[in-house]
Amino acid sequence: MSEDGRNYTLHCVENGEQVEENYTLMCPHGHKGLLRAKYRAKQLTVGPEENIFRFKDWLPVSTTFESRAGPVAFRSEGLSKELGLSNLWIGFTGYYPERGAYAVSGSFKELEALPTYARLQDFSDDSVVIASAGNTARAFAEIGNQIGKRCVIVVPEKAADGMTVTEDNGQATLLSVKGDYADAIAVADRIAAMDGYVPEGGARNIARRDGMGTVMLEGAVRIGRLPDHYFQGVGSGTGGIAAWEAAMRLVDDGRFGSKLPRLELSQNEPFTPMKRAWDARRREILPEDLGHDGAVFEVYADVLTNRKPPYSMAGGVFDAMYATDGRFHSATNAEAKEAEKLWNSIENACPNPAASVALASLIKAVDEGLVDRDSCIFLNMTGGGLERAREDHVMDKVPVRATVEKDVSDEEIRELLA
Ligand SMILES: *Cc1c(COP(=O)(O)O)cnc(C)c1O
Repeated sequence: MSEDGRNYTLHCVENGEQVEENYTLMCPHGHKGLLRAKYRAKQLTVGPEENIFRFKDWLPVSTTFESRAGPVAFRSEGLSKELGLSNLWIGFTGYYPERGAYAVSGSFKELEALPTYARLQDFSDDSVVIASAGNTARAFAEIGNQIGKRCVIVVPEKAADGMTVTEDNGQATLLSVKGDYADAIAVADRIAAMDGYVPEGGARNIARRDGMGTVMLEGAVRIGRLPDHYFQGVGSGTGGIAAWEAAMRLVDDGRFGSKLPRLELSQNEPFTPMKRAWDARRREILPEDLGHDGAVFEVYADVLTNRKPPYSMAGGVFDAMYATDGRFHSATNAEAKEAEKLWNSIENACPNPAASVALASLIKAVDEGLVDRDSCIFLNMTGGGLERAREDHVMDKVPVRATVEKDVSDEEIRELLA
């Protein structure tokens, strides 16, 4: 432990310099690259906790919370057989009790929410602000209500319906904005800049990345080594960065092998901006990489439609791909649905479409001979089982606190949130 009692220090990836940790999201010296945690424990000790906090050695937290959400890794005999793979391992985050998976909001965003609340608690009582109607918002609302932490969720009006949690304790304040996503994000940014609020930080938040990285940790601990390949469906690619960072720590640990897993990231046709940029080995995403107008509305896995992923900056997706000799894949809607059908014929928790994209890409990569059938493959099924979670729990609807105009005044917002 350091003098401040923390199990880690914070560093700018551009020059390695240590920076002050105060739930810091940006390098204070103006560098655009990511910050990264350096943990005091070089070797990982897995704790007794039955949730994500068994990896607290390598999470930027000093507090732990009660929640059942944690990373899960297992072998699927049926899927291995079906695909003809001898060393396939599955990471699964979502709701799938037979496999020990209890992330009731249905995705690995719960692994980001738990350490984010814990990291923030070390510095302030501020509320986290989230602009999303999807898995991120549902995860922060669910976990916030489980552990008694406040958050503010800002959504466009048409998406305000259908935010559910297992037990509503009033911790999540839902604001709906008359406008589109860009308008909701603009309002959220204004709230996050007010006293008493902080942004969740996205890929810039080490707690979010290292929380997602616990899937790789769980995999390596179960397998007994680092896998050769890591498959994941990506929109922002933050999970890919997180897997790379976790793998670097496991290499430094010394007990899991010395070779970084190859990142095998996939996107859903026709929206594949990172694949296009990476295939051209470009560090920049160009406007044409976004495809035709409306491409984002055509994909099955809408959680994979990030227009501004953390791709170019130091420590981002490009660097993760470069360091791991990574490859980008893509799957069509039809291929993802076909993969989903196969999974559902073997396993008992329906995947989130983004996870089906990853599975479809694995199937194609095997068919095309891009991966050896006997190599150690880790497939990160990033979400699933939401329908089952809704069958097993009486869900509460998170009420909309207010519907506001996009040019609502700060004063009015403060009153509404008070
Ligand atoms: C957010 C999300 C993803 C994409 O993750 P990134 O690594 O941030 O691109 C994939 N699958 C599910 C289920 C998600 O919720």
